Amino acid sequence: MSKKVSLTNKILIAMSLGLILGSLINAYATTQDFIQIYLVNGLFYVIGAAFINALKMLVVPLVTFSLICGVCGIGDINALGRIGLKSFLLYLLTTGLAISLALVVAISLAPGQGFEQQQASSSFIAKPSPSIADVFINIIPSNPIEAFAQGNMLQIIFFVILFAIAMLMCGDIGRQLADTAEKLNEVMMQVVTLVMDFAPIGVFCLMAKTFSEQGLSLILPMIGYFSVVILCLLLHALGTFSILLVFFAKLNPLIFLKKMRPAHIFAFSTASSNATIPVTLQALEKRIGISNTTAAFTVPLGATINMDGTAIMQGVATVFIANVYQIDLALSQYITIIGMSILASIGTAGVPGVGLIMLAMVFNQVGLPVEGIGLILGVDRLLDMMRTVVNITGDATVTCIVARGENTIDEAIFNNPDAGIIADIHLPHKAS
Ligand code: ASP
Repeated sequence: MSKKVSLTNKILIAMSLGLILGSLINAYATTQDFIQIYLVNGLFYVIGAAFINALKMLVVPLVTFSLICGVCGIGDINALGRIGLKSFLLYLLTTGLAISLALVVAISLAPGQGFEQQQASSSFIAKPSPSIADVFINIIPSNPIEAFAQGNMLQIIFFVILFAIAMLMCGDIGRQLADTAEKLNEVMMQVVTLVMDFAPIGVFCLMAKTFSEQGLSLILPMIGYFSVVILCLLLHALGTFSILLVFFAKLNPLIFLKKMRPAHIFAFSTASSNATIPVTLQALEKRIGISNTTAAFTVPLGATINMDGTAIMQGVATVFIANVYQIDLALSQYITIIGMSILASIGTAGVPGVGLIMLAMVFNQVGLPVEGIGLILGVDRLLDMMRTVVNITGDATVTCIVARGENTIDEAIFNNPDAGIIADIHLPHKAS
């Protein structure tokens, strides 16, 4: 048994070691140093980026096979529509709660008052953001192959669901295909396990690289903003989600958080909800006991449209920048911020740094200076890692609530502490 637990613990140890080593390099090595060139931008960068690629490699095939199995498993188009509508509305609700909480806390604590504007470290050039009409039009892929090639999650979900519904309508032929998809899904889950075996080294390199670039010196001048964001993230993750889990999913939040730990580690080290999809799926299905018929649908959808942590950052950043530039925001502007944050999170994928692009959309809408984002750029990577953890926890919480409503949660798995623990890989040997 102890051997089984060891991979998760190995990843945790690797994460802490990477964090410590990275911080030491940041404190003691200068930019021209051998360490910076060959270790940080050489070895750590190459292994870290390769590991992220390996995770991303799993996402499209896993979501495809898993979603086909999910839709065929539900087997009923009405039930599918019900799950879709429920998860969509719950995602909107949790994002709305997140941004409202952030605004209330930030307005009360007023970070940024008396802050010297000249401290702006660099100016921020906003990338153009998609219009709301485009967001909805673009859910339908004009070319599914392109959608798969680019990993466009909403388009993939749309096409695969349509395809799986058609499979259901085709009777025998569809059933044969569904059997094959089930086998392929099983194999893909095994590929996930194989990639996870390299996680300790991948996570170590990602942490070491990030923390060698993110020193304490960047955080200190921004400590007010930084701590208000973290406070709100904690309140939302431990408060709001726990309340929702207890009352609507009837689950113990402490067990839930413990079982989500592997997914949290991956979200933190990759800062990408999308790249974490395979691990979130595995945690929900194998450790928490949610059926594939629910999780295969809600997880990829949530990774794209649900970003509670990102909404929190946006709420606090808006109040912070308004305070720095001494701009008074009216109630109607706050309501616009809530609406914009919810809409922005629907239209943008869960990849690193996307929160800043969404923030530019919000600033444009309420007339705050977009170059103000330059102020928070320096500390954004660290906050990105933390808010991604909250983003995927939100996806998992909504999944549990939907699963409770659909009766697709296996309490025996949920209550079994050893269920689905990532085991060390034992590669098959050729029989002699
Ligand atoms: N990195 C976040 C995610 O993948 C999005 C963001 O806040 O930038 O969920």
